[in-house]
Amino acid sequence: MAKENDTVLLQKLHKRFDPMYGEILRKMRLYCRDMDIQALNKAYNLGMEAHRHQKRQSGEPYFDHCMNVALILADLRMDKATIIAGLLHDTVEDTDVTLEEIRDEFGDTVALLVDGVTKMSSVKFQSKEARQAETFRKMLLSMAKDIRVIIIKFADRLHNMRTLQHVPENKRERIAVETRDVYAPLAHRLGIARIKTELEDLALKHTNEKAYRDLSKKIKVSKARRQAYIREVTAPIEKELKKHDLEAGISGRPKSFFSIYNKMEKRNRPFEEIYDLLAIRIIVDKIEQCYYVLGLVHSLYLPVYDRFKDYIAMPKINGYQSLHTTVVGPKGRMVEIQIRTQSMHEMAEDGIAAHWKYKEGGKEERSQFEEHLNWVKDLLDRQMQEKDPDDFMESLKIDLFQDEVFVFSPRGDLIKLPKGSTPIDFAYAIHTNVGNQCIAAKVNGKIVALRTPLKSGQQVEIITSHNQKPNQDWLAVVKTSKARHWIKKILREEQKLQTLQIGSEILTKYLKKHKLSPDNPKVSELLGEFGFQDLDSLKFAIGRGDFLVENLGKKLFPEPEEKKKNDNFFVKYLRRARSESGIRVQGIDNMLIHFAKCCQPVPGDRIIGYLTRGKGVTIHRTDCKNMIKLYEDKERIIDVEWDIADQQKFQVHLSILGEDRKNLLKDITQCVSKQEINIIGVSFKVEDMYAKGQLDVEITDLQHLTKIMKNIRKISGVFTVERLDDTSQLT
Ligand code: MN
Repeated sequence: MAKENDTVLLQKLHKRFDPMYGEILRKMRLYCRDMDIQALNKAYNLGMEAHRHQKRQSGEPYFDHCMNVALILADLRMDKATIIAGLLHDTVEDTDVTLEEIRDEFGDTVALLVDGVTKMSSVKFQSKEARQAETFRKMLLSMAKDIRVIIIKFADRLHNMRTLQHVPENKRERIAVETRDVYAPLAHRLGIARIKTELEDLALKHTNEKAYRDLSKKIKVSKARRQAYIREVTAPIEKELKKHDLEAGISGRPKSFFSIYNKMEKRNRPFEEIYDLLAIRIIVDKIEQCYYVLGLVHSLYLPVYDRFKDYIAMPKINGYQSLHTTVVGPKGRMVEIQIRTQSMHEMAEDGIAAHWKYKEGGKEERSQFEEHLNWVKDLLDRQMQEKDPDDFMESLKIDLFQDEVFVFSPRGDLIKLPKGSTPIDFAYAIHTNVGNQCIAAKVNGKIVALRTPLKSGQQVEIITSHNQKPNQDWLAVVKTSKARHWIKKILREEQKLQTLQIGSEILTKYLKKHKLSPDNPKVSELLGEFGFQDLDSLKFAIGRGDFLVENLGKKLFPEPEEKKKNDNFFVKYLRRARSESGIRVQGIDNMLIHFAKCCQPVPGDRIIGYLTRGKGVTIHRTDCKNMIKLYEDKERIIDVEWDIADQQKFQVHLSILGEDRKNLLKDITQCVSKQEINIIGVSFKVEDMYAKGQLDVEITDLQHLTKIMKNIRKISGVFTVERLDDTSQLT
């Protein structure tokens, strides 16, 4: 009934009111079931009347701005109270209308929203930092009350930015910078991508007009070529989807101006050389189809290693969900492909505005919404403690820019690192020498291993040792180019030195058999003949295995050489250097080596040696709990690496949890022995309904272990299989 009335009214309204208001109603109609035309009309009339004599700087009637704000809100599919508040958002501040009148006419909710927006404006501070901090604070306060306030504020700012060219030039820059530094990051944090992107692009337009114009021209000029390329990429995907009876929406577009501009700046490259400026999006119905489509895409195009990201299983901090993969497209160009469901897509575009609509909805939506609000509350709480606006901005930025990690030195210096950075990156950021000699780190006062990823807000202190040197493992965990550069450089030098040392030792030992020493004139006389400039280059060539010391022998001792053996001196030497334990210790001395009982490393594990007092070197996994304590004993830490000559066996304890069923133990032991693995010990007991036990096996390396664990997990009734890494758990 009410619906029909609304429809009739709506048709009348279309004729009676200006088209912009009609457009608001038309948009709301698409999603709003109880739009209350009467109230909307009342708001329209009140706003129109109140702003009647006001004009914007463009010369347009002021109320046009209010309707544009309401229009943006309708695009975000906000509820009627928000749209009404959008229409009236400037009345209390700029006209004679009072908050009481609004409350009387439209109720508490609309009044609260209008009041929230009103209180947020009028920030008067001298310094830019203080003003920004205060703006942020007000935004957060209003958000904590009702998130819709901030959404209206975003819509307000978006329209003001769209019309910024009418604002006097001396004000433009300030507004654009504030938009870029305050509004856009906040919109991003709240997941409202479409507002964030437009705000950033508009901010760029007014902070760097030339760059913006250049970019927009180039994007326009390259449009046809880009579209052709997109078709070239998507056509095979579409064909494949059809073959598998999958319906999906595929679209491709250039990335935002701001993000292309950032890429050009960061990489210091011209537009023409930024290849990944387009993203292709595939939208499907169900989550499982996302993964299915991913498989199809990867069967068509080679995925770029390490560029796949599963934000469905692990959503971004702002709630964003999608699969991202970068593939090598036609002509060898890299193309990013995003795969998501329709509802993920809505969340990605509208963020908290979408969550808000689901506030009354299911459990999951509600919890995501609350997570957003909790973040706001946490921030406010911290803000109360940060009286200094600079400090507040710092702490806020930590939360806003999640792609970066902000950590502090013991002196309180702020260090900005890429996400995933480790204490090693931090150490190199402090000083090259600190990086080269870092051995462990204290994070918030606790010792952690060097490869532990850092989190924003942590205080990091680096423990150094003169005996420490960068090692190969570091390269796998560092995220900054500075750290990578220095580690590589030192490793190269290190290797050179070691090669020289090995060569020298081989030469000395070989010559010793013939009662000669390397600095004997007979040796130096021969150097030129073999093309060596000096003794060191000879040693180096020997150490690298490029030159066999026997060749020198043929010249030095023309008498018949000792009987031909399969191995030359070089190979024999290396074989001996490999200790029997399968571990190669830094340097070349043979040392007494044994494996730590607590963590039981197996080949493939990252390992480190600890020089015990009188018992040689104990090998631990680098993440072993005991080892972490030992890191403090810097002088006794030794770099070691695996060097397995023969198949050697290593003991591992596995803890298994399964259902208490007949033959479970038999199935497990059979599975293990089928893979020719020795079982050293088994103990199982029944607890409640579960069978819990430990299996001790002998394996050859990490790969081997992973395979066994996988196979045990496949046995029906087995819940978990875990490697025990701490003896304390055994008892
Ligand atoms: Mn406004």
